[in-house]
Parts: sequence; C-alpha cells; structure tokens
Amino acid sequence: MSVENVETLVIGGGQAGIAMSEHLGALALPHLVVERNRIAERWRSERWDSLVANGPAWHDRFPNKQFERTGPDGFAPAREIVDYLLGYAAQVKAPLRTGVEVKALRKHGDLFIAETSLGQIEAKNVIAATGPFQRPLIPTVVPEAAGLMQLHSAHYRNPAQLPEGAVMVIGAGSSGVQIADELRKAGRQVYLSVGPHDRPPRRYRGKDFVWWLGVLGMWNAEAIEPAMAHVTIAVSGADGGHTVDFRRLAADGITLVGRTGAYENSALHFASDLAKNITLGDANYLNMLDAADAYAAREGLDLPEEPEARRMEPDPDCVTNPLLKLDLRQAGVNTIIWATGYALDFGWMQFDIFDQQGNPRHHRGVSAVPGLYFLGLPWLSRRASAFIWGVWHDAKYLAEHIATRRS
Ligand SMILES: Cc1cc2nc3c(=O)[nH]c(=O)nc-3n(C[C@H](O)[C@H](O)[C@H](O)COP(=O)(O)OP(=O)(O)OC[C@H]3O[C@@H](n4cnc5c(N)ncnc54)[C@H](O)[C@@H]3O)c2cc1C
Repeated sequence: MSVENVETLVIGGGQAGIAMSEHLGALALPHLVVERNRIAERWRSERWDSLVANGPAWHDRFPNKQFERTGPDGFAPAREIVDYLLGYAAQVKAPLRTGVEVKALRKHGDLFIAETSLGQIEAKNVIAATGPFQRPLIPTVVPEAAGLMQLHSAHYRNPAQLPEGAVMVIGAGSSGVQIADELRKAGRQVYLSVGPHDRPPRRYRGKDFVWWLGVLGMWNAEAIEPAMAHVTIAVSGADGGHTVDFRRLAADGITLVGRTGAYENSALHFASDLAKNITLGDANYLNMLDAADAYAAREGLDLPEEPEARRMEPDPDCVTNPLLKLDLRQAGVNTIIWATGYALDFGWMQFDIFDQQGNPRHHRGVSAVPGLYFLGLPWLSRRASAFIWGVWHDAKYLAEHIATRRS
C-alpha cells in the first residue's frame, strides 16, 4: 500500500479548506488539501437549486476576491459561489486533491495516520475542515410506514421533485422559510412548523443587517464555549433579499403551526407555542432596530429614519387559533421536509476529545491533541466562524499557530 508524507494535511475542500490553504501557503508551510468529492461540493449537491447567499456579495466573500457576476449588493446564487470558490482556489494555488476521502485518522507517535480511499497519508498536522453542517438531522417522529416522502432540506432541490399534494415543512430557520415560500409560490399548500428563532431585519435605515451586525460588534461576539448553542436564524437573500416576516408568509397562504411534537394515527401534533415563538422573534427583530437606532444616534450617522419598519401586521388566524393537530392524510400532505439542522460527524477520528454530542473540545480550533485542528465549525472563535469571510480569519490564526509550533 502506498504511504505518502505531508507536513500538514487539510481535510475538506470547501471554503474552510481553501482559506486554510491560502494562509498556509502565505507562510510557506507545505500542505495538501484532500476533498472526498469535488471542490465546494456542498454548494453543488447539498443545497436547493434556487438558493442564493444569505448575505450580500460585498460581505459574504473572502477579503481579496469579489464576486464577478453578482454586484456587491446582490445575493450570489449557489452556482456562482461554486465558481467563486474554484476561482479562489486557483488564485491562491491551493494544492488540492479531489476524490480522496479520509476514512480514519489516528496518531502514531508524533505522526497522524490518515487512512484514505487512495492509501495512507502521514502528516505532522491535520486540519479538519469538513464543514459546520455535516450530517443532516431528521428527528425520529414520523415512521417510514406512514408512507410519506420525507427528506431533509439538504436533499430538497425544487418543487417538481416532490409528489403532488400539500407539503409540511418542519423548521423555520433560513432553509425552512425559503423552501416553504418557494413551494407556496409553486402552487403548493404549505404548512410550516415554527419554533423559537431570531429574525433580524434584512435592511434597516438603508443598511443590510450584516452591516449592522458588524458595526454593533456582533459578528465578532466570541463563543462563550466552543459548542455554544446554535440559534435558529431566519434570513433570506431570495428575490433580492427581504426580512422574514411570518405574518406575511401566513397572509400569502402558508399555514403556520407551532413546534412539531408526536405523530399518531396519521396525525402530527404541534405545541401551543406558535404565538410565543412569533412574539419572541418580533422582540429579537425590534431589539436589533433599537440597537441600530442607538448606534446611529451615538455616532451621529446621517441615515434615513424608517419608522414603518416597526409596524407589525395583525396576527393571522393560524396564529390566534393555532392548529394543534393535523391529520396529514386528510390534509393531503404527501411530503415532509425536515429543515431541522445538522450534526457534526467526526466518527472517523480516533481521539478522546469529543463531548457527548460529538462536538470536539478545542480553543479557537486548536485541540488538545498536538497538531490536530478544527476549522469552520459554528462559533469556532466567534459568530462569524462558519461564514465565508469569518472562516478566513480563523484559518489565518490556525496557520500562524502551526508556524509557531513548527519553529
Ligand atoms: C442552506 C445553507 C445556506 C448557507 N448560506 C450561507 C451564506 O449565504 N453565506 C455564508 O457565509 N455561509 C452560508 N452557509 C454556511 C456555510 O458557509 C456553509 O455551510 C459552507 O459550506 C461551509 O464551508 P466549509 O468549507 O466550512 O464546509 P463544507 O462546505 O461543508 O466543506 C467541507 C468539505 O469537506 C468534505 N469532506 C467531509 N468529510 C470528508 C472526509 N472525511 N474526507 C475528505 N473530505 C471530506 C466535504 O465533501 C465538503 O466538500 C450556508 C449553509 C447552509 C446549510
């Protein structure tokens, strides 16, 4: 069997692996990036067809490359993000090898041994850049025997892929609300199960909320602990970008329900928390407006006032008289889309550094195993860590750590 030696092995050819390669290269640190499929694979085959970036192109990018087809205030389509990452990998001359899966990683003395689909690779350092969203999570609620098509948002592509009939979308973060809206526009009857969420304003007083998060210091908010709970955030760049407004979705014809509970005799049960979840989402929205106003006043910014942003439509009937149970068969629901998030999956690593949920213990991506690093995880060092531009800064930190250790 062939055994290859590299100084630093980067596992994963998404934005994290590419950013890591750039910073290692800049410090003249020899390395190899391996990717089991193709570069930017998640953006090719694990996102729906119409997906655009959640943030505007001036923001959701690496510092030293602009998007070419989408203007700075536009939202880049997933296919352009793929081209962008391919272009970036070429720009930084990343030493990439695709079609190589790391199946197991262990340590022998000072060296890591990676068992890959194409032989063994030995390395002094390993960076796991295998994504913040690795394994789609579908709670075991509705049995297969129910005879419905059930799929995770990672496997949803477009309305035509689904059987005829109504659709139940479970989870109202960015994926759930965008998919529900797309299905509604395609003429489907849609039910949307809404749990607790944040829903920042898309734009306020002429600025995108990502700009506000920046000036308010919220992107750089540091993780209190590495596996800090992930808050569901409902934002959308679809149709040029708009604030996610659940009352508007209901007025357009989507039936909102509370958190999904048990399934019994072809019926799904929902918690009676819909109004509360909507109210808390409103509070989060209004807090952001307050914080923005306070900042604008404090800094003397000349930004147009926007009092109408505080006006809320009355609660729709589905919120005031919520459905607590829906017989899926009677309602003609043939599909359930679980927009219920992801888990990490480091089962291929043989190190005693994981908590019960499978989250690695680390500090800013540096683990307790000398030479083993993590990159791209949610809140790795700060709120921005899993986003395109945030991962770039974390990668720089890790490259410097490796350089220091080496010297
Ligand atoms: C629906 C959705 C929309 C998003 N929109 C945005 C957005 O608009 N802006 C933004 O900044 N972020 C967005 N994100 C978040 C984040 O940017 C993406 O999840 C992004 O793909 C993360 O990049 P990554 O390189 O860290 O991980 P990934 O893109 O997941 O890349 C990891 C790579 O590692 C490979 N891999 C995994 N295991 C192995 C192995 N054992 N051996 C070899 N290779 C392996 C995978 O094939 C994959 O290509 C979005 C996420 C989702 C789910």
